[in-house]
Amino acid sequence: MGAATTGHTAVRFTGVTKAFAGGVLALDGVDLRVVGGEFVGVVGPSGCGKSTLLRLAAGLAAPTGGRITVSSDRVGFVFQDPTLLPWRGALANVALPAELRRLPKAERLARARRALETVGLTGFEKVLPAQLSGGMRMRVSLARALVFEPDVFLFDEPFGALDEITRLRLQEELRRMADDAGFSSLFVTHSVPEAVYLADRVVVMSARPGRIVAEIDIPFGRPRPPELRFDPRFGATAAEVSAALVDGAATAPADRA
Ligand code: ADP
Ligand code: MG
Repeated sequence: MGAATTGHTAVRFTGVTKAFAGGVLALDGVDLRVVGGEFVGVVGPSGCGKSTLLRLAAGLAAPTGGRITVSSDRVGFVFQDPTLLPWRGALANVALPAELRRLPKAERLARARRALETVGLTGFEKVLPAQLSGGMRMRVSLARALVFEPDVFLFDEPFGALDEITRLRLQEELRRMADDAGFSSLFVTHSVPEAVYLADRVVVMSARPGRIVAEIDIPFGRPRPPELRFDPRFGATAAEVSAALVDGAATAPADRA
């Protein structure tokens, strides 16, 4: 675990089950704790309930069993699709949540400018989403989530649609932002190296119904230089996560849907 964690519990799932109407059991008995400042990666096969897990943490859906506690109401959510308003420039998109909460104009613009700066987009305030690259649109989406300086950040495969080089750059920038801001993260990804590079701990889920089948501590501190990816210990850790993922997919109980 990184040196920058605080010991308080930021997010806790206790025996969490989620069944959907129609009988699909998405999550079954999930126990998970994210410590303050900790970055937890979540990997698992498609359809195993990863997005459901995040939606429950965000309070966008209720569990059918068990308990979820989140220590703060400042929760940021970033999806794979940046969901920007096409007729608004970058700054106006970033300012939108502050506008919805009726913050005074000067304050919301100041917050939005600061967030755009954090993601390296100063100078692009007026540029429309269609004129931005995919990576830049994702930066705008990150900035929009940063406007309220979240304590807890939920990421649902945010970099999954980006080209490899852009993806690596954004991983490095996100890692630095987490180092600087100290928020706690639950980060869902299909990419094992992405999870290993970013996270203090990686949680591996089984095929549906999603259960946690392994938790792997990532033995690297912070900050994380990009070259860490070429370290043999990095490859060994990624191999360990991949093996747990394959095991979890193979040993999943029969689908009850
Ligand atoms: P993942 O993100 O791991 O791919 P999801 O959390 O999106 O998985 O979905 C888990 C399972 O729950 C899937 O089988 C999906 O079809 C089902 N599911 C998700 N949301 C709903 C919903 N609102 N109603 C019914 N079934 C759902
Ligand atoms: Mg998903």
